[in-house]
Amino acid sequence: MAKLTIQDLKVEGKRILMRVDFNVPLKDSDDGSQRIITDDTRIRAALPSIEYLLKNGGRVILMSHLGRPKGERKAQFSLKPAADRLSELLGAPVAFADDCIGDTATQAVDQLENGQVLLLENVRYHSEETENDPAFAAQLAAHGDIFINDAFGTAHRAHASTAGVTQDIDQCAMGFLVERELKYLQDELREPKRPFLVIMGGAKVSDKIQVITALLDKADAFIIGGGMAYTFRKAQGYTIGKSICEDDKIELALDILKQAEEKNTQFLLPADNLQADAFGEDANVKYTAPYAGGSGGIDDEWEGLDIGPVAIEEFAKVIATAGTIIWNGPMGVFEIDKFSKGTQAVAQAMAKSEAVTIIGGGDSVTAVNKYGLADQMTFISTGGGASLELLEGKTLPGIASLSDK
Ligand code: AMP
Repeated sequence: MAKLTIQDLKVEGKRILMRVDFNVPLKDSDDGSQRIITDDTRIRAALPSIEYLLKNGGRVILMSHLGRPKGERKAQFSLKPAADRLSELLGAPVAFADDCIGDTATQAVDQLENGQVLLLENVRYHSEETENDPAFAAQLAAHGDIFINDAFGTAHRAHASTAGVTQDIDQCAMGFLVERELKYLQDELREPKRPFLVIMGGAKVSDKIQVITALLDKADAFIIGGGMAYTFRKAQGYTIGKSICEDDKIELALDILKQAEEKNTQFLLPADNLQADAFGEDANVKYTAPYAGGSGGIDDEWEGLDIGPVAIEEFAKVIATAGTIIWNGPMGVFEIDKFSKGTQAVAQAMAKSEAVTIIGGGDSVTAVNKYGLADQMTFISTGGGASLELLEGKTLPGIASLSDK
């Protein structure tokens, strides 16, 4: 059943409690006197919903978590810098309440007028938030006539501010950001423009295995890179040296390779790799011979840290002919320049492609930003775990708990 969206609501004069994801990275200022936001992407991502509500005369009460204060008030996790940044972005004052419940919060909510906005202090200053405590959720819910969830990054968690509050508020809708995430990670993938290519990388097979399994029937092709490829290569009998590997997933890797073959799904592992004798910029590096018929593979005491030139060329060709591409996880240890060529090449090939290009969250987002290619992608998800769970076909509690249309 379709869920209520922000545009279905009458917001004028209403108190709108909105869960946003202002979990931004911060650092200390040079003199140590304040905390500075190093990347405000998440605050900007919430602007369309906030601006819409203000323009339509709503009284907007924002709540979010920041970091992991584990139920304690810790100054470095305060959301005050986010209130200041939001105020700059909106060009309007943003009130701040230094607790999300209790008298301070209630008074700040009562003082709001139509078209004004308030940010409540970190919900994770209370351990009841992650415990999804009903009494705490009811205290949050008391701030709003309407609830909106626009925090896609935490929609896979059943916490008090994402799911619990919906028990005590009649009208619960999704914001524009969540709506867009669902459009690209769910609706568009029901009937994807073909060929549908899934590119998975990153450190571990175990993080992505369920996505691969869930998409085996739907995708036309898979590209597997990064550390997770070595579990597949070991399963095929190749040497992998000291490369990252999950031995307890070898059976599963073999099963996936078999299923892909039976379903006639193209399943590409890197044809060659860059291997290194150390994990750092000063490592000695060399390419493996292409993997074929038992030859190729990583040398003893060496570690595979990127894909090689043959793989890059092959992957770029497949990317160029795809209709829809979803990418999650780097092709190598791209944080270190020496091992970043494969990830950069995949990002560039996607930027050039005419396919619907979806960056499914996490480190691939960091990569496309690093190479200045973000504006050439169709959609970049703001969720890591949440996007993977959605792709796995799971129900996200923060969305399932919203009101049906
Ligand atoms: P994930 O969060 O699972 O997408 O993994 C991202 C991390 O995987 C990045 O920090 C990469 O440095 C790391 N990674 C990618 N390829 C490798 C590799 N071959 N060996 C070790 N780590 C890798």
